[in-house]
Amino acid sequence: MGKVTGFMEIDRQVGKYQPASDRIRHFREFTIPMSDAEVTKQAARCMDCGIPFCHGPTGCPVHNQIPDWNDLVYNNKWEEAIRNLHSTNNFPEFTGRVCPAPCEEACTLNLEDSPVAIKTVEQAIADKAYELGYIVPQPATVKSGRRVAVIGSGPAGMAAAQQLARAGHEVHVFERETKAGGLLRYGIPDFKMEKNFIDRRVEQMTGEGVTFHYGVNVGVDKPTEELMAEHDAVIYCGGSETPRPAGIPGVELHGVYDAMPYLVQQNRRVGRENIDSTGWPAEPILAGAKHVVVVGGGDTASDCVGTAFRQGAVKVTQLDIRPMPPEKEDKLAVWPFWATKMRTSSSQAEGANREFQVATLEFVGEDGMLTGVRCCQVDERRKPIAGTDFIIKADLAFIAIGFSGPMTTGVLSELEGKLTLNTDRRGSTNVVANERDYKTSIDKLYVAGDVRRGQSLVVWAIREGRQVARAVDEALMGASVLPR
Ligand SMILES: Cc1cc2nc3c(=O)[nH]c(=O)nc-3n(C[C@H](O)[C@H](O)[C@H](O)COP(=O)(O)OP(=O)(O)OC[C@H]3O[C@@H](n4cnc5c(N)ncnc54)[C@H](O)[C@@H]3O)c2cc1C
Ligand code: SF4
Repeated sequence: MGKVTGFMEIDRQVGKYQPASDRIRHFREFTIPMSDAEVTKQAARCMDCGIPFCHGPTGCPVHNQIPDWNDLVYNNKWEEAIRNLHSTNNFPEFTGRVCPAPCEEACTLNLEDSPVAIKTVEQAIADKAYELGYIVPQPATVKSGRRVAVIGSGPAGMAAAQQLARAGHEVHVFERETKAGGLLRYGIPDFKMEKNFIDRRVEQMTGEGVTFHYGVNVGVDKPTEELMAEHDAVIYCGGSETPRPAGIPGVELHGVYDAMPYLVQQNRRVGRENIDSTGWPAEPILAGAKHVVVVGGGDTASDCVGTAFRQGAVKVTQLDIRPMPPEKEDKLAVWPFWATKMRTSSSQAEGANREFQVATLEFVGEDGMLTGVRCCQVDERRKPIAGTDFIIKADLAFIAIGFSGPMTTGVLSELEGKLTLNTDRRGSTNVVANERDYKTSIDKLYVAGDVRRGQSLVVWAIREGRQVARAVDEALMGASVLPR
C-alpha cells in the first residue's frame, strides 16, 4: 500500500518531457527518467483504498497487482516487484511506455484528479530490473514434446509464445516481416517506444527455446494447413491491419496516403531497414517543408502528427469529426471507467492545429497533385452544416480513421469458407473465437489479439496472448498451471 499518509503528503509527478523544440529534432524517446527516490515517493502515494479498481475489470486489462508492487517499490524491493509484475504482464517495459493507462482512470485518487502514477512506476520497475540483471531467460525444466506454431510476432504472439515455451512446449513463431514486434515495431514510432526493448525480449525468448522464422507470410509463402500438419496447435495472432476505406473523393491524388505506409516507412528508416520491403510504397513519403493534414483523431493520427513534425513539416492540422470533448469529466458519473475528456497527446502538444466537428469532404488538387483538403463543420449527428465549407492548404494528407480487420491475403483468403468471421459494432471484420478457449471454427487453430478483438491496445494483446497460451496448454496437456 505504500506509505499510509503518502497520498496526503506527496504530489503526483510523472516523468517530464524534453521541450517540444528539442524533441522534434530526433526520433528517440524524450521522457526524462525519474530517479529511484522520486519513483519510490510516487509508489508511496498508493493509499490501500480497500477495493483497488486499478486492477479490477475497468482498470488494468492484465490485472496487474498494482497496490502490491507499489508497496514493494516503496520498500525498495525491486526484485520482488518485477517478479510480481511479471506474474501478470510479460512485457511491462512496453506497457509502461505506450499504455493509455486505464488503471489510472480507475484509481481511487483519480476522484481528486491525482491518480497514483501507476504507469510511471510500472516502467521504472521493468527498466530497473533490466539494469540490475533480473530479467534473464527462464527455460522450462521439463519439455512436453508438443510443438506449437504462432503466426505473427506482435505483442499477442510474443506473449503467447513466451508462456507456451515456459510451459515446456517447442514454440515456432512465423513472422511476415524481417523483425519481431508487429505494430509495436512498425506502427508505433520510436519516440513513443524505442525498438531495442523488443530486441531484448526476443533475445530472452530465444534463450527460452522460442524459434523465430522471419520473412514467412503464412498463407502465401507457406500454407496454413502445412503449418497445422507440422504442429500440435497453431495460434493466429495476425493483427488487424487493413485500413478502413475512407470513401473520400480525391484519394487518388499524389500526396494522399493511408497512415500506415507513412508510419511503417519512417519506422523502417529509423531502424535502418529497407523502406520498400513487403509491399508498402517504395517512394519516400516525407513531410519536410510541407503543409500536412491528418484525418482522424486516434493514436495513429497522433503518431502521424509527431512524425511529420520530426520530418520538418511547416504546419500540421488534425481533423476530428467528433465534437471537442469537455476539459474535465463528471467524475461521479464516469469513474472508474475511461472518461471522454480533452486529452492532448505529446505529439499534438508539439504544435498541431486541431479542428473538431469537421468532416473531410474532398481532397483537391492540380495536375494530379494534392493542394488542399475541402472540409465543413458538422452538427452533433455528424451531418454537414450548409455554408460552412472551407479549404485547408495541404501538400500531404494522411488518412488515419481506423482499421477494418485482418489482412485478407494470406491466412484469411486461404481458409475462406472454413474460418468463421463476424463484423463488430465498429465495422471491423474479425475472426470468431471466445475468450475462454480462443478456438476458431477450425480444429487446432486458435486466435488472439487484434485479429480476434479488432484494433485495440498493446495491453489487451498481451492479455489475449497469455490467455490463449493457457487454453492451448490445457487442450494439449489436459491441465495447465499457466495463469489466465
Ligand atoms: C500507429 C499505431 C499506434 C498505436 N499506438 C498504440 C499505443 O500508443 N498504445 C497501445 O496500447 N496500442 C497502440 N496501438 C495498438 C497496438 O499496437 C495493437 O493493438 C497491438 O500491436 C496488437 O497486437 P497484435 O499482436 O494483436 O497484432 P500486431 O501488433 O498487429 O502484430 C501482428 C503481427 O502478425 C504478423 N502477421 C500478420 N499476418 C501474418 C501472416 N499471414 N504470416 C506471418 N505473419 C503475419 C504481422 O506482420 C505482425 O507482425 C497502435 C496501433 C497503431 C496502428
Ligand atoms: S498495463 Fe496499462 S493498465 Fe495495466 S498497470 Fe500498466 S499502464 Fe496500467
